[in-house]
Amino acid sequence: MMPSNKSVSDAPIVQFTNCQILRNHQLQREDLWVREGKILNPEKLFFDEKGSADIQLDCKNSIIAPGFIDVQINGGFGVDFSLATEDIKSGISLVSQKILSHGVTSFCPTLVTSPPSVYHQVLPQISIRNGGPHGAGILGVHLEGPFISQEKKGAHPEHHLRTFESGAFQDLLATYGHLGCVRIVTLAPEMKRSSEVIQELTRRGICVSLGHSVANLSQAEEAVQQGATFITHLFNAMLPFHHRDPGIVGLLTSDQIPAGRRVFYGMISDGIHTNPAALRIAHRAHPKGLVLVTDAIAGMGLAPGKHTLGQQVIEVYGMNTYIAGTKTLSGSVATMDSCVRHFLEATGCTVEMALEAASLHPAQLLGIEQQKGTLNYDNDADFLLLDDSLHVQATYISGVQVWPQDTFAL
Ligand SMILES: [Zn+2]
Repeated sequence: MMPSNKSVSDAPIVQFTNCQILRNHQLQREDLWVREGKILNPEKLFFDEKGSADIQLDCKNSIIAPGFIDVQINGGFGVDFSLATEDIKSGISLVSQKILSHGVTSFCPTLVTSPPSVYHQVLPQISIRNGGPHGAGILGVHLEGPFISQEKKGAHPEHHLRTFESGAFQDLLATYGHLGCVRIVTLAPEMKRSSEVIQELTRRGICVSLGHSVANLSQAEEAVQQGATFITHLFNAMLPFHHRDPGIVGLLTSDQIPAGRRVFYGMISDGIHTNPAALRIAHRAHPKGLVLVTDAIAGMGLAPGKHTLGQQVIEVYGMNTYIAGTKTLSGSVATMDSCVRHFLEATGCTVEMALEAASLHPAQLLGIEQQKGTLNYDNDADFLLLDDSLHVQATYISGVQVWPQDTFAL
């Protein structure tokens, strides 16, 4: 038998030099090595393969961080994922292309409460796919509603809200029609029969998130014990913190979380949805669970004016988004990179923590940290070059520069 040498590849090796890379929770003066779309361990390369770089790129002292992962984005650039069209694919493609410039390398397209006909039309058209020059990767859909609280419906249309009836999980299946591409479901855990639904979604590997809810703390803890792992936009659309019953917010410091489990929580750090002091409270209480989300709507990336969010008309004034004629906030027009910068400034946390809240933590939430969300060896080479103030200079997916596309593409 000939000794096999198949693990060694002929693919070009790229060495990113003169940079600080985020690894093991710290920015480190190290080079980043990439081959065949993966982060390469240079020691193995030197000692086992006697290999070296084919291409060296001077990063001019940039920060290199894992690509951002947005697990709640309703649309952007004029596209509303909740508006069923015959061709939702082209809308998703446009958004996935445009968010590359904001450092997002993968995301969960999010649908707000919609009539069943919309889910039935839209969901079969969405497929999970890798990112690339065509756009950010799609990790699966986030369905926010319709099994949520009337009292905390926020921008969701009341007449399309639903409850679990005799069928519980069957009701959910009948409403959505198709769970193949679904990654996250946001529901209100105080709803009758929600625990069997939470268990069934969890059993199928779908992440259950608690939100748009009036749950008290013990209802929230029970939901976590049944399998829920996420909280949808903490503080927004839930009971405010009360010291005798802190509600869902109390999960951040609960002693009833099963051993070895971590509850994550989404935060819209756009300077509008959450006061900086509230951001700091959440971050200081439970820093490792914080997941930055944009909750962006169709108006993100466009001039202020009238846009849609599913069945509702939204008016955008500056950074504020309201259901037309009301003061009800409805999603944001913030980009992910601006949320990271605002979070850093508002909390005074470290650069590392701000970057991990948009990369490592969402990857851990979805259980994909062995592929994405870190710059660990053998992970996907999805990463960003950023300047000191965390403005994105370049975005890479699978080791290929995908934004800007006009300069030194590999
Ligand atoms: Zn919401």
